[in-house]
Amino acid sequence: MQRIVVLAGGIGGARFLRGLRSAVPDAEITVVGNTGDDIHLFGLKVCPDLDTVMYTLGGGIHEEQGWGRADETFAVKEELAAYGVGPEWFGLGDRDFATHIVRTQMISAGYPLSAVTEALCARWQPGVRLLPMTDDRVETHVLIDDPDAGDAGRDEDGGDGTAGRKAVHFQEYWVRLRASVDAHAVVPVGADAAKPAPGVLEAVAAADTILFPPSNPVVSVGTILAVPGIREAIADAGVPVVGLSPIVGNAPVRGMADKVLAAVGVETTAAAVAAHYGSGLLDGWLVDTADADTVGAVEDAGIRCRAVPLLMRDEETTAEMARQALALAEEVRA
Ligand code: GDP
Ligand code: CA
Repeated sequence: MQRIVVLAGGIGGARFLRGLRSAVPDAEITVVGNTGDDIHLFGLKVCPDLDTVMYTLGGGIHEEQGWGRADETFAVKEELAAYGVGPEWFGLGDRDFATHIVRTQMISAGYPLSAVTEALCARWQPGVRLLPMTDDRVETHVLIDDPDAGDAGRDEDGGDGTAGRKAVHFQEYWVRLRASVDAHAVVPVGADAAKPAPGVLEAVAAADTILFPPSNPVVSVGTILAVPGIREAIADAGVPVVGLSPIVGNAPVRGMADKVLAAVGVETTAAAVAAHYGSGLLDGWLVDTADADTVGAVEDAGIRCRAVPLLMRDEETTAEMARQALALAEEVRA
């Protein structure tokens, strides 16, 4: 049986996984999910990316939105707002609340996030093994200009670029501020001390193929790779590692990946993202047909590259993307 490991963020990862599962229904797919976006709200632990994968593959996702539950209502949120309790900018629906209550209850009882995720998946039957990247707390922070800081403090940072700046939680940057201000740095706080969750390194070592779906290269895949041991295990696995570009025509297909790419000094192009992962990690890279002229540049960097349609319009077009990624992996293997 073919064993595939996929490092996934939220929407881009989840939609790709749905296509992969239908392209290779007999494969054993292990998903290593990003938990850097996790946030504590109303006393509850919310794991947006794990839930997007679980709901999407389990048939509970709000399709158009790409996150949250279908047929959702917001009575709890309205009642909280009536008490003046926020944040109002993060959308948590009533059905979704139940997931976070169960998760938080189990964590309070002492279960690690990996065990909790497995328990939640017993209901959703996603058809893949979903593992958090780590059971430890990692929180992605984004460094922005502090609107409350005067110009006075700006040059007094001792050269580390922090004066007049402040760090905000990734969700505050992405959801509340809608990435409308520049990001100066992206920091996965806690990652350096985190350990891969049980099963992650074992799955990577046993994989036949490792895939990077068209997830955000900085705050999704980048955060997973920041957990010590994961990047090394992938590089040492000795199997093809193939990625699909989330950047099409020099722009993110969805969301604001350009902002966080700029923060780490990477251009918003399919070729620059491939170079950012690097030939030490990545063996193959798929770019969209709109970026066919960059194939040569990627190959010059030592990464085998093909241009194929990369817009996930529906499950079948996405399944075809997955077949192309697996075909490229076979070319690498040969
Ligand atoms: P998030 O955690 O919900 O932001 O999701 P991911 O990190 O998994 O995926 C976000 C990335 O998916 C964005 O950078 C998008 O450009 C990319 N994306 C979304 N839809 C598509 C698509 O149809 N095709 C491609 N190639 N990328 C996509
Ligand atoms: Ca995310």
